[in-house]
Amino acid sequence: MKEKKSGRVEGRTAIVTGSTYGIGEAIAKVLADEGAISIVTGRTEKDGEKVAEEIRTAGGAAEYYPLDVTDEKRVEEVARAVYDKYGRIDILVNNAGIAGPNKPVHEYTKEEWEKVFDVNVTGAFLCTKHVVPYMKKGGGGSIVYISSIYGIVGAHDVPAYHATKAANRIMAKTGALFYAEDNIRVNSVHPGFIWTPMVENFLEDLSQKSGVPVEELRTKLDSVHPIGHIGEPNDIAYGVLYLVSDEAKFVTGAELIIDGGYTTK
Ligand code: NAP
Repeated sequence: MKEKKSGRVEGRTAIVTGSTYGIGEAIAKVLADEGAISIVTGRTEKDGEKVAEEIRTAGGAAEYYPLDVTDEKRVEEVARAVYDKYGRIDILVNNAGIAGPNKPVHEYTKEEWEKVFDVNVTGAFLCTKHVVPYMKKGGGGSIVYISSIYGIVGAHDVPAYHATKAANRIMAKTGALFYAEDNIRVNSVHPGFIWTPMVENFLEDLSQKSGVPVEELRTKLDSVHPIGHIGEPNDIAYGVLYLVSDEAKFVTGAELIIDGGYTTK
């Protein structure tokens, strides 16, 4: 059994949406490493089971629940099942997200636009909606929305995605105001580019359209972050860990930017 680092979230039950891979996987692992019971969720069972198994093998506590955040009935079921089993839900990380098509607004179909909103905005709404009552029963909790630098500044690509990430930022602030009296803190995290399947796919798509090799695009992406490179999933996971721990007990409605300096320009 691996020794817990310092138990910053010891014994807390944490639902992390979209934790089958990418940033969510890192968050689930870091929280478990610090003593939380990580509820790994997402649609890809094989990956979700693998993440949960890796956490358990490392001495942590984790369980995988299949979950599509756009399916309200399933969101409700998972929240209830987790509460029934563990007796509390302390942490919700609204991380599940998709990028959607990379083209100008006027080329989007309504269906393409709505699909991105369904996952990134409605999905986060549904998870919050069905988890908050259990947090209230438990006397409090902490919710983190994974927004983006593009919830703060604009860029001329993936317009639906940027709109959803801006929505996530204000959802966190509104939640902070609504639920402060319930001892539920709500914050947002704003990552710069992080090397995950989402960014890999984005660059591959861009490479196919532009003919520029992926490696060259990656170097360019590194260079737009003043720190000289893009980030890795743990850079975000440790920010989330801070926000959901008691060290952040006075932090609510805040936006934690973790972007290698991207938005400072
Ligand atoms: P990713 O590599 O594509 O991973 C996305 C995760 O979301 C996967 O676990 C995926 O699992 C899950 N997911 C997608 N659709 C879902 C749905 N309908 N229901 C439940 N889960 C779903 O993306 P990432 O880069 O880790 O991004 C994670 C979050 O960080 C997103 O909200 C993204 O907007 C944000 N972010 C990322 C970056 C970056 O540079 N990577 C920067 C800023 C913000 P399944 O496919 O198994 O469902």
